[in-house]
Amino acid sequence: MEDCIFCKIIAGKIPCSKVFEDERVLAFGDIHPQSPTHILIIPKKHYDNLAALDEKDQPLMGHLLHVANRLAKEEGIAQKGYRVTINCGPQGGQVVQHVHVHLLGGRELAGELG
Ligand code: AMP
Ligand code: ZN
Repeated sequence: MEDCIFCKIIAGKIPCSKVFEDERVLAFGDIHPQSPTHILIIPKKHYDNLAALDEKDQPLMGHLLHVANRLAKEEGIAQKGYRVTINCGPQGGQVVQHVHVHLLGGRELAGELG
């Protein structure tokens, strides 16, 4: 998608601090981290948000979660705990219109929803 900031990151037109990449997904540090570990995991294919995914996309959905889980271990936050968030749509607090998974950890997050 031409005007999508995350598609531009995937295309290498905007830099990012890459943490992980495979044929389906890219993971990089959030530019405004909310916690010591704050990684975004995104599909390389553009989807506006979670609501744009359906049954046939279940392998991708599972893969995004698997990568979050794996990166939590690699970042050393798996044992103490972490949060995985997907904001969807205006009332869900989604700002960037390219589906993304937030991986947050490294500090106490209890009591917060977003
Ligand atoms: P959301 O509110 O779920 O749409 O979250 C979008 C996230 O993308 C925010 O946490 C932003 O800080 C982050 N973000 C926006 N632009 C960039 C960028 N160029 N590189 C890394 N993270 C970004
Ligand atoms: Zn995009």
